Amino acid sequence: MSYDPNNIFAKILRGEIPCDKVYEDEFSLAFHDINPQAPVHVLVIPKGDYVSMDDFTSSAPAALIAGYMRAVGHVARELELVTPGYRMLANIGANGGQEVPHLHIHLFGGKKLGPMLSR
Ligand code: 5GP
Repeated sequence: MSYDPNNIFAKILRGEIPCDKVYEDEFSLAFHDINPQAPVHVLVIPKGDYVSMDDFTSSAPAALIAGYMRAVGHVARELELVTPGYRMLANIGANGGQEVPHLHIHLFGGKKLGPMLSR
């Protein structure tokens, strides 16, 4: 799947539509999900044209992969998710239920999250 530069997260990265920003650095942007599924639901996206974790892990430069994953950990710590615990999730493709074709890691927390998968 080729990258669609008009996807909603690309527009957020370009500042064309707003987001409720949590964190930003040279590699990443984190913001609150518009339709939260937990008391804390934040999305962390890389600054680069990557459709999914599959695309990212096969094509992104090592510095971006490292910087992005560091940012995910940083955001979780900043939101004080680590001690109570949290969940991170990346949906990939149709069976994964991915809706937005720009890689994003979901961070969920703020309560006990229950079973990992809905049926
Ligand atoms: P996916 O199903 O692709 O893993 O998750 C996409 C997520 O993006 C959903 O949780 C959805 O609520 C969120 N989302 C979709 N559009 C927007 C938007 O314009 N702003 C924000 N902050 N989140 C969005």
